[in-house]
Amino acid sequence: MRLKTALIIDDAAVMRMRLRDILEPHFDVVGEAEDGEQALSLYEACRPDFVTLDITMPKVDGITFLQNLLKSHPDAKVIIVSAVGQKQTVFKALTLGARDFVVKPFDPERVKTAANRLFSKA
Ligand SMILES: [Mg+2]
Repeated sequence: MRLKTALIIDDAAVMRMRLRDILEPHFDVVGEAEDGEQALSLYEACRPDFVTLDITMPKVDGITFLQNLLKSHPDAKVIIVSAVGQKQTVFKALTLGARDFVVKPFDPERVKTAANRLFSKA
């Protein structure tokens, strides 16, 4: 069976590396982007099954990226991975159509659960 594919979006290289380590045995991480602009072109190129999305990033932030993405891909599966103290922004992201959110610093299990839940037929 083909692994589901993931795109990791975060401006912090260390965070991208951590997320890749957590996801990789279970998912195929097909790309990494460090801002919302790069993320959109990578999304078009890779068409991942889901993305993990940081909120605070240079150039184009997570919320703007999410709005742009859902305009052209309304069914895109997005998990917000954001710092604590961003409740308002996380709420906005969920209202826009993000499927789930994980708060940094995160428990690896929580990330895996959120990703698996996107594809479970519950
Ligand atoms: Mg950030």
